[in-house]
Amino acid sequence: MMKTGQQTIVRTAADNPYLLLTPGPLTTTRTVKEAMLKDWCTWDEEYNGLVKSIRERLVELAAPGRARQYTAVLMQGSGTFSVEATIGTALPKEGGKLAVAVNGAYGERIVQIARTLGIETAVLRFDEREPVDPEQVRALLASDPAVTHFAVVHCETTTGILNPLADIAAAVRDSGITFIVDAMSSFGGIPMDIHELGAHFLISSSNKCIQGVPGFGFVIAARETLAGCKGHARSLSLDLYDQWETMENSGGKWRFTSPTHVVRAFDQALQELEQEGGIEQRNRRFAASQSTLVAELQEAGFEALLDEELQSPIITAFRYPSEQSFDFLAFYQHLKSNGFVLYPGKLTTVPTFRIGSIGDVSRDDMARLSAIVKTYMGAK
Ligand SMILES: *Cc1c(COP(=O)(O)O)cnc(C)c1O
Repeated sequence: MMKTGQQTIVRTAADNPYLLLTPGPLTTTRTVKEAMLKDWCTWDEEYNGLVKSIRERLVELAAPGRARQYTAVLMQGSGTFSVEATIGTALPKEGGKLAVAVNGAYGERIVQIARTLGIETAVLRFDEREPVDPEQVRALLASDPAVTHFAVVHCETTTGILNPLADIAAAVRDSGITFIVDAMSSFGGIPMDIHELGAHFLISSSNKCIQGVPGFGFVIAARETLAGCKGHARSLSLDLYDQWETMENSGGKWRFTSPTHVVRAFDQALQELEQEGGIEQRNRRFAASQSTLVAELQEAGFEALLDEELQSPIITAFRYPSEQSFDFLAFYQHLKSNGFVLYPGKLTTVPTFRIGSIGDVSRDDMARLSAIVKTYMGAK
């Protein structure tokens, strides 16, 4: 049993064969899953009202009290679809150039999206174990006047590294260019304010820190910037402007079939975020789980890849204990049969595996997992 705010959420073995420590999809509450037990139509007032309310609540989370300046657009598909929709809609068809700071696979994906769309890019690469350096961002933007847009990943889920968003934002703000943040794995779990950052687009999805199920992404955008993007898109279905215009003008309508069950579940997930006490409270829960995990797994012989000050509360990469003899697959299978599913690593240079601390998971779950790991490692 787990307490979130006033609500007590009951988790039974029948709910799930295992906890997903893989962000994401991630472990959702039973009540979020139950919101999907009905079939909802898409066109009527009730559903459109729900979409409208979700959009308003997202803006309130990202830019408290600034609904006049910021807006939210929901987009079908996984998070990458929303990144692609944003890049493809924000940059004009001619004369735009995107600079991207990269320190992991998700930064590389932004570069890949831009190249696929035929957008000119400038790439600033860092080692995957190093944070993006705001001074190098500043220098790049100063040295290349052709750059019109800059994109960065906030929490690089590849390693769990947290890039220094406020300092990067300050470096970008001085240049006056359009600022795009992939906050996919951090929004809802780490406090941030799009207005304070001076960001123009902030991207996340239904199945990360808000703790919904997969099916759509969302973009919080500065209204004035998005309003200037009409006709930019290189794709019909990933036209963020067009999707926004329809949602704004038709009271919450999506242009094409929307993932109704997922939207219902997301509404429930937003209510549960509020019941838990909001983003700061959720951040404390994630941080407590993450630090418990690191401390306990260290006792079992696993070292976290990153130093604590670079590490996010979202996901942690652990090195293999000994590169020759550690059998990750056997380890993974053992934990899976004991109720926990981990993530393989995504680094090319160091063998790692990853454990997510987001989702309906508590510090107690991490302690339980660690006890199983200790027994397993002791038995080896
Ligand atoms: C999850 C994630 C994405 C999107 O991945 P999808 O598989 O398309 O949902 C993008 N960026 C980051 C940083 C992520 O963590």
